[in-house]
Amino acid sequence: MPTMPLLQLSRQSKSLIAFLLIPLLIVLPASLYITYDNVMHNLRSKAQTYVNRMDDVISQLHQENQKAMRAQNGCMAIREELLETSQLRELILLKDNLAVCSSKRGVMVSDMSQIIAQRVTQHSSMFFFDINDDPHQRTMVVIDTYPSKPESGSLALVDKSYLVDRLGQVANDQISYVTFKLGAKTFPQENPFYQNTFSYLGTSSLYGYSVLINANSNYVFSRASYTLFFCLLLSLAISGALLLANHHYRQRRSLAYDLRKGIQRQELFVMYQPIIGSQSGDLEGLEALVRWKHPDMNLVRPDIFVPLAERQNLVNDITDIVLEETLDNLKQLARNQNLDHKHAPLHIGINVAPQYLHEKQHINMLIEYGKAFAKIGFSLTIEITERQVLDAKGREALKTLRQHGIRIAIDDFGTGHTSLSVIQQTEFDYLKIDKCFVDSIGLDTVNAPVLNSIIDLAHRLGVRIIAEGVEDTSQADYLKTLNVHLLQGYLYSRPIDIDDLKKQLCPA
Ligand code: C2E
Ligand code: CA
Ligand code: CA
Repeated sequence: MPTMPLLQLSRQSKSLIAFLLIPLLIVLPASLYITYDNVMHNLRSKAQTYVNRMDDVISQLHQENQKAMRAQNGCMAIREELLETSQLRELILLKDNLAVCSSKRGVMVSDMSQIIAQRVTQHSSMFFFDINDDPHQRTMVVIDTYPSKPESGSLALVDKSYLVDRLGQVANDQISYVTFKLGAKTFPQENPFYQNTFSYLGTSSLYGYSVLINANSNYVFSRASYTLFFCLLLSLAISGALLLANHHYRQRRSLAYDLRKGIQRQELFVMYQPIIGSQSGDLEGLEALVRWKHPDMNLVRPDIFVPLAERQNLVNDITDIVLEETLDNLKQLARNQNLDHKHAPLHIGINVAPQYLHEKQHINMLIEYGKAFAKIGFSLTIEITERQVLDAKGREALKTLRQHGIRIAIDDFGTGHTSLSVIQQTEFDYLKIDKCFVDSIGLDTVNAPVLNSIIDLAHRLGVRIIAEGVEDTSQADYLKTLNVHLLQGYLYSRPIDIDDLKKQLCPA
């Protein structure tokens, strides 16, 4: 149908867009938040630095006030003592709201009641003060008075440049401006005092003024671009990982889907691999091996689809198919008058996954199949791989099957972790030696001594041995000398379909 590829394409592109967008939707707000958090953290620590500097200036002025108030030596002495400390500060002694002495101007008389009235607290305070009522000459005043005489004490007036100097460089590549505020007045007076997204408002716990610090927009932009760049890289990496995982999952899911369909559409069939008597050289058995003819992929290897079938709970269906088709095929073979019966009954090995043995109906079916195979001159052998877990229930089922004349073969012996416990706990008739041990013949590998031990063990247990994967005569000769009973491998025949089997066994 022409609409299908289009539909598939749009679904694929939809998921591609989703996999690109989803991480982006998470990462973008995250990068904005990280930028914001980063900038605010920086502003907070900078604000604290400015508060500390301003607090230092104020407390130093308080100390100087206190010193002047304690001085008993009159105006001249105060002048001498304090004038040295700075040209940029003026200390004024107050008496009953009058300025009586200035560190810069000496003895004087001037009404200070207007300035003193701006005080915030009773005995000591600081505030911003406009000299000559000119906001451009805004500076800071720190007043200390005697507890018993609030109109007398000392007043420190600092020069604006002194304050700027002590606070240090304000505008830089990270900060656009810093503004202090106490009461209604801000310092410096030209700076605005309103908060935006990238500003931080701090307060001095000692003197109660506020400090507003504003981030430089270039700085915010460069931080945002930097974070965004890394977040985009991360987002791309997540998208890539998601796409890869999705691709993998789809492939597996679609193969599982195809297998389910393939079982229904009867795409599975059985091939047979001859098993040869080592001494006689004659055919003594067959192993049934399932094959899947996939409509697009041709033959799919059982190593791929059998484990998939196990995960998808389809392996029992496969066993049913193999049993049914094998019986059907061998019946056709048995009907042929020319069938060589020299070694009847011939052994027919069927691979069965342990999970098949968990259901009573399967056990009954196997018993029925055993009888049906026996009728046509075959003895049914269940091949159980040592690599899969055979639990107590499975072992009990094998016992029942044996009592009904079905033989048990332990497949792939020596390749799992449980070889010895399997042979201790399971009653069986054949031990199948895995190809990897047969491959070791004539080679100096770690598997070579293991092969001899397995053969020796099987002899001691009194079970028959089948060696798998025999590919050359030297292997066959070696196995023969060690009295391995049965040999299976490409040396004799690859797995063949029923038609080829008929040709081999029933020559015209
Ligand atoms: P297995 O039971 O160990 O089967 C023997 C495998 O070795 C077969 O591969 C066979 O074709 C291959 N073989 C035999 N002789 C030689 C040889 O001389 N050289 C080489 N290179 N290979 C040889 P196959 O048919 O691909 O089966 C692979 C595995 O798939 C089987 O290993 C078995 O575990 C599983 N399997 C096959 N059919 C069934 C089935 O009907 N049911 C279940 N549950 N598993 C099956
Ligand atoms: Ca097998
Ligand atoms: Ca095997």
